[in-house]
Amino acid sequence: MTTEIPKVYQVGDVTVTRVTEMMLGGIPPKVYFPGSWDRMFLEENRDSLPSGLIDGNSQLIVSIGTWVVKTTNHTILIDTATGNDKNLPLNPDLANLQLPYLKRLKEAGVTPEEVDYVLLTHLHVDHVGWNTKLVDGKWVPTFPNAKYVFPLAEQEYYSSEASHNKANEVNFNVYEESVLPVVEAGLTQTIGPEGGHFLEIFKFIPTPGHSIGQMSISLKSDGEEALFGADVMHHPFQVFNPDWNSMYCEFTDQARISRLRVLEYIADRPVIYFSTHFPESAAGYVTRNGDGYKWDFI
Ligand SMILES: [Zn+2]
Repeated sequence: MTTEIPKVYQVGDVTVTRVTEMMLGGIPPKVYFPGSWDRMFLEENRDSLPSGLIDGNSQLIVSIGTWVVKTTNHTILIDTATGNDKNLPLNPDLANLQLPYLKRLKEAGVTPEEVDYVLLTHLHVDHVGWNTKLVDGKWVPTFPNAKYVFPLAEQEYYSSEASHNKANEVNFNVYEESVLPVVEAGLTQTIGPEGGHFLEIFKFIPTPGHSIGQMSISLKSDGEEALFGADVMHHPFQVFNPDWNSMYCEFTDQARISRLRVLEYIADRPVIYFSTHFPESAAGYVTRNGDGYKWDFI
């Protein structure tokens, strides 16, 4: 059996590599884009859309993963997927996984001990899971030498009763198992509501809506630029239909505003967009297409 060599993107002086935790197919678009999905979009555009967006039954394909950024001095992870062994009584699909994520991370050239920073766009179930791992019945930091960095507004909300509502069922118990242990280990640093620069190359940019304090993370190095858009979009169909929210977007009007702002920004610049959930490589470019936008994988 051959091991697939992860694709490496160069952004200025740094490299970016995808580590995919899982690919998910068979997702009905009508369920994923509640109230928005329009069958005619697919009928009319099927031939011109990039391949790999849907399966043979016209159901969506999405992924969950991490981006690894390597600079001369640091190894950085952006979002940490879902994790193994998690107790998610209200989210059985993502509960108690047993996936070889750490092995894939190693194939991408990273051991847990050498991670210097874990940057989290928001604190949803599929972005914080590998923050911790279960050892002798206790949740401990997976990356013991890392500083975990995330928006303060996310911590305040998900550590409070306010977040324990129906819209957030999928995130029930996530803060307790995947965030609190790194807080208690003294490994965290928060980003204020206005966002801001981090290290020399990153900038946290508020893109709320999908979650209360979600931030996208821009990367600039040696004149080149990329954007880790988090869950501003879940699937390339939203590049073509910016008003479609996913079923996981909590504050829907604000989510549409943030999505459009990101698309406007990256459509006119050579900015690589690194998504969390797109299928295929999960990376690509947004360009203008008439009055709207289109997507191409790289
Ligand atoms: Zn997500």
